[in-house]
Amino acid sequence: MPDPKFAKPWHGIPREQIVWHPAVDSAACIGCGTCVTGCSRLVYRFDFEVKKAVVVDPLNCMVGCTTCANTCPTHALSFPSLDTVMALEALSDVHHAIEDELLAKRDVLAFQRLVPSPDRILQLEVTRIDRSGMNNLVVQLRPQGDDCLCQFIPGQYLELWLPQSDLLSRAYSIATAPREDGAVEVNLRRVQGGRFSAYAFEQMKVGDMLQGRGPLGVFTVTSATETPLLFVARGTGFAPIKAMIEQQLALTPRRDIVLFWGATDASDFYALDTVAAWLRADPNLKAVLVARTVPDGFTPPADLTIEVGTVYASIERSTLSFAGRDVYIAGPRKTTTLAIDALRKRGVEPRAIRVDSYGN
Ligand code: SF4
Ligand code: SF4
Repeated sequence: MPDPKFAKPWHGIPREQIVWHPAVDSAACIGCGTCVTGCSRLVYRFDFEVKKAVVVDPLNCMVGCTTCANTCPTHALSFPSLDTVMALEALSDVHHAIEDELLAKRDVLAFQRLVPSPDRILQLEVTRIDRSGMNNLVVQLRPQGDDCLCQFIPGQYLELWLPQSDLLSRAYSIATAPREDGAVEVNLRRVQGGRFSAYAFEQMKVGDMLQGRGPLGVFTVTSATETPLLFVARGTGFAPIKAMIEQQLALTPRRDIVLFWGATDASDFYALDTVAAWLRADPNLKAVLVARTVPDGFTPPADLTIEVGTVYASIERSTLSFAGRDVYIAGPRKTTTLAIDALRKRGVEPRAIRVDSYGN
């Protein structure tokens, strides 16, 4: 019988709806008993007759755990692909359940710092909101009082808190290079069921005050000035890339730079006028925009064309040279993985590839 202590819902999802438990290859099992005695959740029992491990209470198994497989001397244990767990973690409901649990158990789970955090909380006024299609917002934030965001390195991000809320902060890349007035832009993508999304897309207005922290992160251009660059973005992963390209166009004009930017639908692209202006101003910059679908009547600005397909397929078939380029990638994990595979096929060395781990 599953033990309710272990077989309880996993971050809101009934445990019986999740297929996650070990399978024993009886032929490979030598009956050492390591898994049976090592699992404190009583997933296994030991068959003393034939000296084999037997999975008796699979629902007791902790979702995502593979400890017993790691310690089996004959590799007799197997699990479903971890993609199962990754797909669940991508669900807003799961994300929110984890967030709620962290907040409810804050007293127990909080890491107690030995010294006060030096990070200052910024007061940021929403000074402009541009809607681009149904699913993207470009939001300008201006620090108040003595706070300033005049000095940061393009590619860094801010953490923002929902107004009047105890929820955890969300990370958003800064989409602009530093300006003298200290204002910055962030690009927000609509996340179905997302809590910050619900506020940003349905309630946020000019004049709102947000609390923030930053600039943070080390995803910045660190290449030598003579090294040609390749930027790869998917969706609002374009935000840090946009800031980095702005920086490079100002610091090292006429540098050999290529941008690949992918979207699900061409209407999800934003700031296309900015990209078109870059291309007009700097003939050494090349931009390849790729969308899975292009709606009827969609017209990009002059100088820009939209390919139909995926950004990684476009990299694979591109006639552009990838030799010697340093690569900077920002976007969802799946795109990042596929883009790296495509770049490897094009001969780009792993040490030349930097990835934004926050990915918007
Ligand atoms: S994966 Fe972890 S919880 Fe599941 S059976 Fe093995 S040790 Fe037990
Ligand atoms: S650890 Fe491996 S070999 Fe040992 S009892 Fe379990 S399945 Fe069998």
